[in-house]
Amino acid sequence: MTGNEIRARFLKYFEDRGHVVVSSSGLIPQNDPTLMFTNAGMNQFKDCFLGMEDRGYYRAASSQKCVRAGGKHNDLENVGRTARHHTFFEMLGNFSFGDYFKKEAIAFAWEFLTKDLGLDTSRLYVTVYTDDDEAADIWHQQEGVPRERIYRFGEKDNFWSMGDTGPCGPCTEIFWDNGPEVGCGSPDCAVGCDCDRYMEIWNNVFMQFNRTADGVLHPLPKPAVDTGMGLERITTVMQGVRSNYDTDLLQGIIRHIERHSGKKYGDNEKDSVSMRVIADHCRAVTFLICDGALPSNEGRGYVLRRIMRRAARHAKMLGVAEPLLCRMVDAVREMMGDAYPELAERETYIRKVVLAEEERFNETLDRGLAILNEEVASLRAGGCSVIPGETLFKLYDTFGFPVDLTEDIVRAEGFSVDEPGFEACMEHQRELGREHWKGSGAAGIADVYKELHNHGLRTNFVGYGSLTAFSPVT
Ligand code: ATP
Ligand code: MG
Ligand code: MG
Ligand code: MG
Repeated sequence: MTGNEIRARFLKYFEDRGHVVVSSSGLIPQNDPTLMFTNAGMNQFKDCFLGMEDRGYYRAASSQKCVRAGGKHNDLENVGRTARHHTFFEMLGNFSFGDYFKKEAIAFAWEFLTKDLGLDTSRLYVTVYTDDDEAADIWHQQEGVPRERIYRFGEKDNFWSMGDTGPCGPCTEIFWDNGPEVGCGSPDCAVGCDCDRYMEIWNNVFMQFNRTADGVLHPLPKPAVDTGMGLERITTVMQGVRSNYDTDLLQGIIRHIERHSGKKYGDNEKDSVSMRVIADHCRAVTFLICDGALPSNEGRGYVLRRIMRRAARHAKMLGVAEPLLCRMVDAVREMMGDAYPELAERETYIRKVVLAEEERFNETLDRGLAILNEEVASLRAGGCSVIPGETLFKLYDTFGFPVDLTEDIVRAEGFSVDEPGFEACMEHQRELGREHWKGSGAAGIADVYKELHNHGLRTNFVGYGSLTAFSPVT
């Protein structure tokens, strides 16, 4: 079954059970300053959960574009490290706005996985929130899951929140055992271990509260259900592969990287890591720009820039001299254009934005890398393994290296970075900027004009009657 077929199958299953299939919302949240990027299927339904919006339907299903690279849910550092985290991924979800609750949600999830997709129950595990006996009993009594396969975890894993404020509640999660050959191999490895063996595939949240800025939990008008299952992860399970990157969803993109780089995925680990990073990042970049983000030096735009520059550096590591990322826009459209038609509509625009950023960064990348290599060598000779704040700042300010990019580069050399030192340099620069502005603005310009005035210069404003740029001065 292909990833595209699994997406369609999920939506059909829930449509057949009275759910309205809703299109994905964009990645840039509208009217929600609490959120950097859309990070879950429930985002677009936030007001339905809060009882502030009535859409006329009470069951919905979607496949939602998500980015987790900033804000509360941030997986940027996990990409390339784990087999299961992306910056951009698709979240399949079913939702109940005050309609069904725990019993039905659990029944749907279990039936879809074990009957519709036919998963082997001996490789599935579930978790519930510490004191949620009700959910544990439903799993055991209604679905026949043995008690020893039901784990209980606390706030961190089994109480889901969209952000610091907003809808939240206890959840129950479903895990798949990828087998001992995939994991860390520790004798203590079990559900909850951070390695890739027991992979979380589906989270069912029982939305019961709205958390306000003071941290207080207010009960929602009607308890609701919000679920999310990563399409790439369930595809890994269905295709019997070891990693999301081995599914057809990502392999289709990796084929393009192979073609452009002349290298083969799997031939050596270093190149494979670069290919995975590029495969992940090119989807995030394409969709973020498609949905209205632009690279910049702050906020969302800076997160996008950091993702683009990391990808550009990995393209360089693969030995690709020409800009690669802009050519990957094509690959993403080819793989995902049917599910997301907006990609084809905006393809030319996206490619232009990516190319401009790539060309700009490629101009300074080599020189920045050379300086960094020299610094690493001289620090090592002096027995130090921390990149000082001044170097981080110079790389940032002159060569456009975001700190996390530098960190990513030197980690492989066993180095870390002095981030507080970098922040101090940044603050110093901001201060200089403020002083400079005071000098030239308040004093400098006024002095010039005063002097001209003393020499008898007078201006005569004619803008209401004439479009001529200058009028005669007397
Ligand atoms: P994890 O513990 O693996 O980081 P999570 O608990 O943060 O996942 P949820 O917020 O519960 O994830 O999101 C619902 C589902 O979305 C997860 O069960 C998983 O299938 C998928 N998912 C979450 N984060 C990612 C990611 N970075 N890349 C791919 N899929 C993801
Ligand atoms: Mg996570
Ligand atoms: Mg989790
Ligand atoms: Mg989870």
